[in-house]
Amino acid sequence: MNRLRYWNERAETLSRDELAAVQLKGLQWTVKHVWANNEFYRRKLAEVSVEPGDIRSLDDIHELPFLTKDDFRDQYPLNMLCMPRGSVREMHMSSGSTGTPVVMAYTEADLTQWAECMARCQIMAGLQPGDAIQIMPTFGLFNGGFGFYHGARRAGLFTVPASSGNTARQIMLMRDFKVKAMGAVVSYSARIIEMLDEKGWELPDLKIGIFGAESFSDEMRNRVEARLGIKAFDIYGMTETGGVGTTGMDCEARCGIHVWEDQYLTEIVDPVTGAPVPDGAVGEVIFTSLTREAIPVIRYRTRDLTRVVSRERCACGRTSLRIDRIEGRCDDMLIVKGVNFFPKQVEQALMEIPGVLPEYQIILENDHGVTDVRINVEAQEGVTGYMVEKQLKERLGFSPKGDIFKPGTLPRSEGKARRVFHVDKQG
Ligand SMILES: [Zn+2]
Repeated sequence: MNRLRYWNERAETLSRDELAAVQLKGLQWTVKHVWANNEFYRRKLAEVSVEPGDIRSLDDIHELPFLTKDDFRDQYPLNMLCMPRGSVREMHMSSGSTGTPVVMAYTEADLTQWAECMARCQIMAGLQPGDAIQIMPTFGLFNGGFGFYHGARRAGLFTVPASSGNTARQIMLMRDFKVKAMGAVVSYSARIIEMLDEKGWELPDLKIGIFGAESFSDEMRNRVEARLGIKAFDIYGMTETGGVGTTGMDCEARCGIHVWEDQYLTEIVDPVTGAPVPDGAVGEVIFTSLTREAIPVIRYRTRDLTRVVSRERCACGRTSLRIDRIEGRCDDMLIVKGVNFFPKQVEQALMEIPGVLPEYQIILENDHGVTDVRINVEAQEGVTGYMVEKQLKERLGFSPKGDIFKPGTLPRSEGKARRVFHVDKQG
């Protein structure tokens, strides 16, 4: 059998003109669909006096109102549903800081669409039908496990649905079943590396890592690739757009995340004013789904910051828009002593110091209204506090306090790594 370069060559290599035509059709269908079938959406469109017939070109998207995470929460549980309840086949849910969950529902067609997006990602990562993939995110309400699973079934992969936890068993499965790819959060690969190092084991068949749900620095990626002997890919997607992989992944050429543009319309806007920013400028990425039935999104504000890298055909042959790997979330930006930075920048700076391990904490101490930052990091013997302080001073422009911890002594989290902690230092 010939090696697959694409899962869906036609869709992944449409010309810009063809893409624009597909997108206009999808946008018109979506607006008509939500208007006809959902009270919440009809009200939102009425507020800006837009009716389905008003969408004549892609530029008309600017007339449509934004959708936010708060909208999802306010419409809990299923007030955004645009299809009969009986047509829902699956749901996923994420909980946020406020505690009200964000719900996504899927019809049969939505599950097929998700599987299609994920299959494209898995083939783009270099998997071929018959290859084994081990799925390490949880199978449950969180969308990660099932997203990898639906895609892997579609792409004809051998699925090992390990779910999360039990690192020794994960390694045993990967070794015994000659697993070629792992799907996980990147911080979990650090767990696996720790155990491999401790036991002196290797995973010779593992070639690919598909990592999602948390942003990670290039330095972290380089380390994971070097130790595991894999190519690591950054997969993108969220509950609101329909789950992991729906909004794309980077390819082997490493020049941005390919957004599945026949499925999602992408805008980058100024996070404060909501006005579009030119290609290349950093802003908040906004997605509009073009084919989703149960809960479509129109101009969903992700709070993720990125920029358009290119709209030209990529070295891999795909024609879809590429956006930069996510820098951080609008809400995650930290401001300490007048310096703005993202947790990812701290990680990047730390990972450049030889001997520093990928386990760290950023602790923001609030001392009577003044924020100070402390950075704790695990490191091998020989790394000193001065080395860390000097590096952070150079890279971030200020010197946080902090401590060096012995390997394996900072607390671990299952699933997404928790990096930032807020502490009140009163009295
Ligand atoms: Zn590419």
